[in-house]
Amino acid sequence: MTTPISLRILIDEEKNKVLFAQAGKDFMDILLSFLTFPLATIARLVNTESNMHKVSFGSISTLYESVANLEEQQFWTPACKKMLLQPKNSMEDYCQNLKHNIDVTEETSYFICEDWYCSRESSGGLLTTFSNLKCRCGKFMSSSISLLGSDKIDHSEGFVTDATTFNISDDLTVKPDSFQNSICQPMNLLGLENFNAIKFMTVEVTKKEILDLLKCALISKTPLTDIFLLKKQNLESPLLNTSVLDLHSNIVEENESKKLKIKVMLRKSNNKILFALGDADFADFILSLLTFPLGGVEHMLKGNSCDSSIDNFYKSIVELDSDTYLRSSDLKDKLVKSKLAHQFKLCDQLLPFEETPAIDYFIVSRYNRRKTGFHGYLTAFEEPSITSKELCVPLKFVEPQSSIGEEYGECGGRGFMKGPALYMVADDLVVTQSTSVSVISFLSKLGVPSSDLEEKVITIGKKEGLSILKASLMSCSALTNGLGPFLKVKVQTFVKVKDENISN
Ligand SMILES: [Zn+2]
Repeated sequence: MTTPISLRILIDEEKNKVLFAQAGKDFMDILLSFLTFPLATIARLVNTESNMHKVSFGSISTLYESVANLEEQQFWTPACKKMLLQPKNSMEDYCQNLKHNIDVTEETSYFICEDWYCSRESSGGLLTTFSNLKCRCGKFMSSSISLLGSDKIDHSEGFVTDATTFNISDDLTVKPDSFQNSICQPMNLLGLENFNAIKFMTVEVTKKEILDLLKCALISKTPLTDIFLLKKQNLESPLLNTSVLDLHSNIVEENESKKLKIKVMLRKSNNKILFALGDADFADFILSLLTFPLGGVEHMLKGNSCDSSIDNFYKSIVELDSDTYLRSSDLKDKLVKSKLAHQFKLCDQLLPFEETPAIDYFIVSRYNRRKTGFHGYLTAFEEPSITSKELCVPLKFVEPQSSIGEEYGECGGRGFMKGPALYMVADDLVVTQSTSVSVISFLSKLGVPSSDLEEKVITIGKKEGLSILKASLMSCSALTNGLGPFLKVKVQTFVKVKDENISN
């Protein structure tokens, strides 16, 4: 078992409130790793027990569950489903040596065609990090191959510099404990009326408290008090009175951006969107939300994603002097504009998420007739020193969505769901493949009279896409809250909890 991290916290006993925590590298690196998590990872982690109950993460949790229920043959390849349920963290290397790594995902493995001759053709062979994909020759890419140890870039030292201490306030605003930010300054002590009530305490942080922290960061404005002073009653009733989306203020629509045409079924009596119908592109857009890393989402939503303390944390990191407090100056951008992992970008996607660039790999292989046949390793070095019996050939990545071994193109993958097909997306983002019959059956189950239904056609661009993204983080009615304002229907108060018995 990993040893707990000790955290010094300053509390106001009178108010029963944590004023701030003082944390070193171990704890700060863990907090920063939250920004690298894809939304699916967050949905999975907050759905586990810790000291706190399971928490649901807006409509992302229901979307995540719906992917698990989709049939594998509806996806282009089995890899697609795995990409959505266990999306790769583009910064996994940085997180591997965290004191408590709550996101335990398997290390990247590399596979080549089971037929080694295929990977020795001078025109180049194929490579993948996904299992069960097919090569262009029709055989499976099932031979595991390891990357030359010295070619691995070592990021295991994490994010922040060693000696720094950070002051983390109850709302997760973070400042380095520097001369400038010292808490001894009168300004920082203003709120303290009774010095006798102030007490220092040391708390032990294990994996459970880290999970508590992730949950609270998404739903609470006072996570440290909630966790360390056990004020969990706040959390059992999620915030109800959060602000209605401020949709039109800060989203710039680019004319040339992609648009998707969908139909929405509106219930007139309560202005709720019951579901939306669209093609595979629309389903792919909704599903791709699961792959977006939190830091990149915060960047797109300008630091206002969840209306909770994680937003404060994000904004503090945007303000942080990266030259002084982070291990390299490019790390800040990698965290606050975190990218999709390589091969997770979709060609022609609605929201402009970038992915980490590919590395050009080469395979060095040799054939030993007397021993076990073929041997080889992967290298990122173009001209490795090879012996006369070895062969060095460049490799290209296979598109994970291709069932016939096509190369991965620069613009991204083709998407997750097979087309042409109709997909139904419910208000809480549950995705199902659909037919006219299943639509009618869905409506009859809801028991809504047809006189109360209205079908509207709407075009979704970047602005609408961002609005759905934001609503999906905060609400179980992502479509009603995300698209309502564009349908010129009056949207009710923004609600975080699942309140609906829809037929009422
Ligand atoms: Zn092959």
